[in-house]
Amino acid sequence: MVKARCMKCRVEREMKDAKETTMKNGRKAMKGVCVNCGTNMFRIMGKK
Ligand SMILES: [Zn+2]
Repeated sequence: MVKARCMKCRVEREMKDAKETTMKNGRKAMKGVCVNCGTNMFRIMGKK
């Protein structure tokens, strides 16, 4: 399970429906929604 900081909850939450995506600069990131409030979350995964 991927975790990311939720902007709304202001704490780390588990990411629901996490999907890997590649940004324009070639970096990988995870997109999903907060399990608690449903806010969209985005987490940059660093190096490949
Ligand atoms: Zn949240």
